[in-house]
Amino acid sequence: MLLAINDLHVRYGNVEVLHGISLHVAEGEIVTILGANGAGKSTTLLSISGLVRPSEGEILFDGLALHKLAAHQVVQARISQSPEGRRVFGTLTVEENINLGAFSIRDKAKIARTRTWIYDLFPRLAERRQQLAGTLSGGEQQMLAIGRALMSDPKLLLLDEPSLGLAPLLVRAIFDTIRTINASGVTVVLVEQNAKAALKLAHRGYVLEVGRIILHGESKDLLTNPEVRNAYLGGS
Ligand code: ATP
Repeated sequence: MLLAINDLHVRYGNVEVLHGISLHVAEGEIVTILGANGAGKSTTLLSISGLVRPSEGEILFDGLALHKLAAHQVVQARISQSPEGRRVFGTLTVEENINLGAFSIRDKAKIARTRTWIYDLFPRLAERRQQLAGTLSGGEQQMLAIGRALMSDPKLLLLDEPSLGLAPLLVRAIFDTIRTINASGVTVVLVEQNAKAALKLAHRGYVLEVGRIILHGESKDLLTNPEVRNAYLGGS
């Protein structure tokens, strides 16, 4: 198992928002975490990234106890997060944003190779490499956030709502690119409100409801599960 979360509890102040969740991700998988607003999806990703400290439980990655590491050590362990809301640096160019993602890598030739790969994945970014990131469209900013996350050469990529606010055609393009990234050997954990698209892309999924995992399984089984269909797929 590449990632194993065991009985994870997270509190913000006095309020516990994750009540003992357990999940695992095998190398090479795309695993999606579904759930309504406030279920704790982002909190789960932030815990993996070391940005939020669990109060109980453990997060194991490739033999490392992630819950004991600082956020920059998690990046060195080759985990990278593309945060919700994109968070690109608006007053820097596309290329400067991309380069910032490589802060954990020393090898200049490797940085150049990865950058070329990212521009191949997202030709729109290549065309706009000198443009200020703040002037990119929403979809382009999303591409930039994912591209920047890839610059640290992650084994595990954490994506928080990559389709948020995007037109359907762009959602398809982003999801196709996530498939390509995964096919190149990067394991992916995908948090999404767009449950149908996420389940079509992912191998397996977990459903989080107010801080607890209520269901998990193969995506094809979740897609036909009546509970999932009613709550997350609009009953369709
Ligand atoms: P969304 O889809 O709306 O982003 P989510 O499933 O990602 O939701 P989280 O962002 O993990 O949910 O939030 C889980 C709960 O924790 C929510 O009730 C939220 O209000 C609360 N929460 C999140 N961040 C903080 C914080 N920094 N301080 C206090 N409470 C927080």
